[in-house]
Amino acid sequence: MALEIYNTLSRKKEEFVPVHSDRIGLYVCGPTVYGDAHVGHAKAYIMGDIVNRYLRFRYPERKVTYVQNITDVGHMTDNDDVAGEDKLQKQSAKEKKHPMEVAAFYTRRFYEDMSALNVLRADIEPLATGHITEQIELIKKLIEKGFAYEVDGNVYFDVSKDHDYGKLSGRKTEDQEASGRVEARSDKRSPNDFALWKRVDAGHILRWPSPWGDGFPGWHIECSAMSMKYLGETIDIHGGGLENQFPHHECEIAQSESVTGKPFVKYWMHNNMVTTGGVKMGKSLGNSAMLRDLFKEYDPLSLRFTLLQSHYRGTTEFTTEAISASETGYKYLLRSYHKLKDVVGDAELPEFNSLDTPQNQSIRDIVGLFKEALDDDFNTPGAIAVLFNSLAPMTNNILAAGMSEAGPKYLAVWNALAGNVLGILPTQDATQTDASGTLSSVVQLAVRWRKQARERRDFAMSDTIRKELDEAGIILEDSKEGTTWRMK
Ligand SMILES: [Zn+2]
Repeated sequence: MALEIYNTLSRKKEEFVPVHSDRIGLYVCGPTVYGDAHVGHAKAYIMGDIVNRYLRFRYPERKVTYVQNITDVGHMTDNDDVAGEDKLQKQSAKEKKHPMEVAAFYTRRFYEDMSALNVLRADIEPLATGHITEQIELIKKLIEKGFAYEVDGNVYFDVSKDHDYGKLSGRKTEDQEASGRVEARSDKRSPNDFALWKRVDAGHILRWPSPWGDGFPGWHIECSAMSMKYLGETIDIHGGGLENQFPHHECEIAQSESVTGKPFVKYWMHNNMVTTGGVKMGKSLGNSAMLRDLFKEYDPLSLRFTLLQSHYRGTTEFTTEAISASETGYKYLLRSYHKLKDVVGDAELPEFNSLDTPQNQSIRDIVGLFKEALDDDFNTPGAIAVLFNSLAPMTNNILAAGMSEAGPKYLAVWNALAGNVLGILPTQDATQTDASGTLSSVVQLAVRWRKQARERRDFAMSDTIRKELDEAGIILEDSKEGTTWRMK
C-alpha cells in the first residue's frame, strides 16, 4: 500500500514519492492575523495537522518539517492589489493600535484556538515581517531575470512572461467583470500582473526601505520566500484553502519557478469550504462561526471530530444538528476509551510498533484498515469508521470478557491512532498531567463514594459530589458500563 494524495496540479490521486530520501517538507499558508479564527480556519489547519501527524506516523524514518507562516503584512482587503488596503493597517486604524500590536494580539489568540482544537504547532512559524530581506532579494532576482518590472516605486510580476501561469487553477485572470469590480487606475502593464512590492505614502506605518523606495511586500511573495528558505526550492506538499488556489498559489508558483527554473511544489492540496445552509462560511460573508463563540457551547475536540467526519476535499455542512449528531458518536468512542483506560490503570503500555507481530493479528487488522483509509488521500471519515466498527467494539469485547492482558495493548493502539494521528483524545487526561497518579486515585475515590451514596439512595450527596468535581474541572460521565471521568 502506498499513500496517495489528490494533487490539485494534476487533478488526480498520485502515489506520494517524497522529493528527498531522508526528509519531507510540508508548507501550509497560515492566517492573516487581523481578526479571530472561524470554523473555516479550523478546517484548513486541522487538515494541515492531520497531514503533519500522519506523515510522522507513516514515515518514522524521515524527518518531517512543517512550516506554517503568519501573514502580518501585505494581505490586501481586496485581491485587487491596486485599490485594496493592507488588512493589518486597516484593522490597526480601527482598533487605534500599532499594526504589530494587532498582529501580536491575534497571533496569540490564533494559537490558543488551535491548541484547543489539538492542532500541533508547526516546526517553523515564520512571520512575513521577519523576512522582508528575503522577499526583497527574491523580487530583485525576478527583475534581473525579466519577470518583473518597477513603475514609480511599485514592482509587479509580468504574467505575460510566464507561459505556465494558470497551470494550477486553470485560470489566468481574475474575472473582474463577473465580480462587478472595475479595475482601478493602475500603472500595471496588464491588469493580470500582480504586485510584488508596494510603494507607500507618508502616513503608512508598515514600511521598509527597498531598492525601489519605502514600501511593503505583496502578500504572495512571502510564501515563496519563506517556504524556499526553510524547505528548499522544491517542497513536497503545499496546502491551503481552495480559495487560495487563485490568485495566491498561482502567484507563488509563478514567482518561485521563474527564479529557480525548478518545480516549486510536488503535491498541491486544497481543502474545501465549510458551509451553512449551503453557503460558504467566511469572515467577509458575515455568517462565520467564530471558534471562540463555538467553544462556549461545544467541546473543541468534538468540533475537531465533527470536521474530521467529512473529507477535506468535500464541503462540511456546519449546523447545530450536525455537531450534536457527531458529538453523540464522539462520546460513544470516548466512553469505550476511558473505560479501557480506567481498567488498565497504571499498567505499563507496550510500544505501539512492537505490536506488529503475528500474535497480535487482530490489532494488525485494525491498524491495517486505519492506514488504508488515511493512505487514500487522508480519508479521515474512513479512519474514524475503523474506530467505530473495529477498535471500539473490540475494546468493549475485551472489557466484557475481562481479558486484562489485552488491555494495555489496546490502550497503546487507541493512543497511537485516535491520539497521535487523529488527535481526538483529550490531551488533558490525568495520565499526562498527573504523573504520580494522585489525582486519578482521588477521583476514583470520589466516584466510589458517589456510587455508594446512590446505592443508599442519597441522591443529594451523589449530586453534591458530581457538582463539586465539576467545579474542580472534572466531568463525570455515566453510562450503563459504569462511570468514567475526564478533565474539562
Ligand atoms: Zn501562502
